[in-house]
Amino acid sequence: MTIVDLENVTFAYGEQPAVRDVSLTVEQGDFLGLVGPNGSGKTTLLHLMLGLHRPDSGSIDLFGEPVDQFDDGERIGYVSQQATSGGGSMPVTVREAVTMGRFAHAGHGRLTDDDHATVDDALETVGITELADRQVNQLSGGQRQRAYIARALASEADLLALDEPTVGVDAESRDAFYQLLESLNEREITIILIEHDIGVVTDRANRIACINTELYHHGDTESFVESDALTEAYGATGQVVHHHH
Ligand code: ADP
Repeated sequence: MTIVDLENVTFAYGEQPAVRDVSLTVEQGDFLGLVGPNGSGKTTLLHLMLGLHRPDSGSIDLFGEPVDQFDDGERIGYVSQQATSGGGSMPVTVREAVTMGRFAHAGHGRLTDDDHATVDDALETVGITELADRQVNQLSGGQRQRAYIARALASEADLLALDEPTVGVDAESRDAFYQLLESLNEREITIILIEHDIGVVTDRANRIACINTELYHHGDTESFVESDALTEAYGATGQVVHHHH
């Protein structure tokens, strides 16, 4: 099943397109790494995929429907760049936040014992069981990402979209976090990951989309590693490739 289908998508905030004529598909079970230099349109492309921007031209389907008609938000877990900071002032515990993700599946807004067990499983899977009674806004950045993912698991999301989820997370937690993503992907959850560390992406992803406004590569990770797409995409802006791992 095709989860995301972009055809000839162009989008500009002002005069200059941030994304130009991009066509690509994300299939169920893919772990797609979205790479490219700073300001190359990665976040914009992800927002287009999720229906947060309307394209100036081209078409976007999400779960087989035109994205502007898609209304089953519980199928998608989105960890934005802002997810690790802020958090607002609404005082909810981790368990409450994750439980909210379960309501879409609860008949008449009533949660059964099974629903509560699903919430417990989600907390356990992401390793935050012991944080269940903490306030979300008291968590560290890395813990908060896990809470977002637990919420997506509780709602049985099929697609996780993550925008540089480990910025500000220490190396050890980062590695554990990417192991978690890999194990979720093994359960057929489709993953789209923006990450500036190319090594992390080529280690974990099975598909790569490399962009710098235009698409330089879209295909499996092996063919990306063997290609010159990365150098070409970075060369277009004179930025240095981040290879540290
Ligand atoms: P990346 O995620 O690869 O760093 P972005 O998608 O954030 O790139 O940005 C792509 C281009 O669009 C950049 O030139 C950026 O300055 C511009 N841009 C991003 N967001 C906005 C916005 N809200 N308004 C105007 N320009 C924007």
